[in-house]
Amino acid sequence: MSHLNGKNVLISGGTKGIGFATAEHFSKLGANVVITGSSQQSIDQALEKSQQDFSGLVCDLKSMQHIHALPEQLAAHFSHLDIFFANAGIAHFQPLEHMTEDLFDEMMNINVKGLYFSIQQVVPMMTGSGVVVVTASIAPRKGQPGMAPYAASKGAARAIVRSLAAELVERGIRINCLSPGPVHTEIFSRMVDGDEQKAQEIVDRLSSTVPAKRVGTVEEMALAVEFLCGPGADYMLGSELTLDGGKAEL
Ligand code: NAD
Repeated sequence: MSHLNGKNVLISGGTKGIGFATAEHFSKLGANVVITGSSQQSIDQALEKSQQDFSGLVCDLKSMQHIHALPEQLAAHFSHLDIFFANAGIAHFQPLEHMTEDLFDEMMNINVKGLYFSIQQVVPMMTGSGVVVVTASIAPRKGQPGMAPYAASKGAARAIVRSLAAELVERGIRINCLSPGPVHTEIFSRMVDGDEQKAQEIVDRLSSTVPAKRVGTVEEMALAVEFLCGPGADYMLGSELTLDGGKAEL
């Protein structure tokens, strides 16, 4: 039987990509999964698409009001929480001269502020013990043109994981992060307003920069999150698991 069987799991940004694949994988392994999405429509689409039986709640990480409503919303599903996969995030890649204050603020609000305060709101539901996994990125470990604000937001996420791991260890809560390299998801089409040809060009360009000569898959990420939530990662604290086809190290 899987270590996830019967576990209560919240996944932010579970409507698409890495979060959605993890929601499906964890549900298959017997976990009780609730996903968050920024709109009811995105949640309805995800639940309709899935073969698995999980639930969803609206929490737009740009809104502190939504974040503060998380515990009450979650209490409608769970009496306590075992695992929080804090995965929601966005990316805007722009050279220095084209980056705008709005794009910069949106990334910081979702990837840093929304991340931090969503953890603050759900941790009290982890009674006795719990696991938090944050989706960071290899972006802060490698200088890449056009990625400065995104890399800064993920560097902040990485720093939050280290500090909170030290802060929460006494409460039996273990926090680590998954640091992916490029993974094929809709994050790229969102960057180019849904233009699939341009999104594919970004994916192709990124693939050529990966020593493994391909981008990662969401299923690979879900397996890594499973590991981070399980007994194999019990001795891992404030740390990161990198899945990037060698991009950061080689
Ligand atoms: P995706 O665009 O497919 O999914 C992102 C998820 O975040 C969606 O469910 C979306 O609804 C949610 N989200 C976006 N804005 C939100 C908001 N304001 N409030 C609540 N939820 C919101 O992207 P993905 O590639 O699956 O990204 C998941 C995470 O992985 C992100 O944190 C991203 O930065 C990180 N990441 C992705 C890659 C990659 O190459 N795809 C690489 C490294 C890190």
